[in-house]
Amino acid sequence: MSAIVLSGRELAAQLRAQATTVGCELRSRGIAPALAVVTATADEAAAAYVRSIVRAAKRMEIDCAVHDLGPSATAADLRNRLIKLSLDPDIHGIVLQAPVPPGVSAVDVAAAIDPAKDVDGANPTSLGRLAAGSSAFAPATAEAVMVLLDHYGIPLSGRHVTVVGRSTVVGKPVAHLLLARHATVTICHSRTADLAAHTREADVIVVAAGQPGLVTGAHVKPGSCVIDVGTNSDGAGGIVGDVEAETVEAVAGALSPVPGGVGPVTATLLVEHAIRAASSAADGRS
Ligand code: NDP
Repeated sequence: MSAIVLSGRELAAQLRAQATTVGCELRSRGIAPALAVVTATADEAAAAYVRSIVRAAKRMEIDCAVHDLGPSATAADLRNRLIKLSLDPDIHGIVLQAPVPPGVSAVDVAAAIDPAKDVDGANPTSLGRLAAGSSAFAPATAEAVMVLLDHYGIPLSGRHVTVVGRSTVVGKPVAHLLLARHATVTICHSRTADLAAHTREADVIVVAAGQPGLVTGAHVKPGSCVIDVGTNSDGAGGIVGDVEAETVEAVAGALSPVPGGVGPVTATLLVEHAIRAASSAADGRS
């Protein structure tokens, strides 16, 4: 058996086209959707991700400014910038890029982002609202997983989904989104005693651990669907996921590739969220 490839590229193009149309309509009403990305790291993977957001914004014809505060920025520096951007009526979406400098709590700092502009669901208020089933922007990566599953018609209601990873950025929010869709969700992490026992029971596996090759064919039930969120450097300028693709695609029914799976959808959704935030702000004013 060879797994179906769940490509995110074509889906990202569709999402881009739809959101760009909405952005054009807003501009025709005199509103220019604008996104701000605040970064304070020298991490190369983070820099590559920020470049992909800037590229997506450009393709979707919205303004995107990168505020690079440098790796020695303090919590106060970050908080002050996030407050300033939250108060700026010309900014509609704010992203706090991870990682933040050592000793700074990303969650504490992200609390300074106005939830209405929190397009990557980083403010703990947004995560709380997500958990409570109330309206909030979900972290774009978690939403990208859901959008990819829906695009390929993967059923979730009543299905068993195992999520590998419990971060605030991916694992926990995707678990909440899956629960809201009536999946039965198991969350695994680095202390899980027997990972394969949990993944082999799953109809869908979402892997977000940051560990290349963590999930192999031996972890997968035949015919199941595997979403690989991992983006790890391959040491040669490219990226690899958390899944050992050669062995998993021989067993799984469907697999999202890295690169070209969740990644392109994530950057597109971030920009789409900013356009949506601009639209909500405009409706609130009119
Ligand atoms: P974190 O490092 O914050 O979290 C990793 C999670 O994986 C933790 O919960 C950790 O457990 C768990 N974990 C680590 N090792 C194991 C293991 N051996 N077995 C089971 N669980 C394990 O990472 P993120 O959630 O931020 O990111 C995860 C991956 O997704 C990374 O590769 C990242 O680059 C990628 N990513 C991709 C994005 C995209 O758009 N495609 C966007 C964001 C992230 P514990 O809690 O016990 O430490």
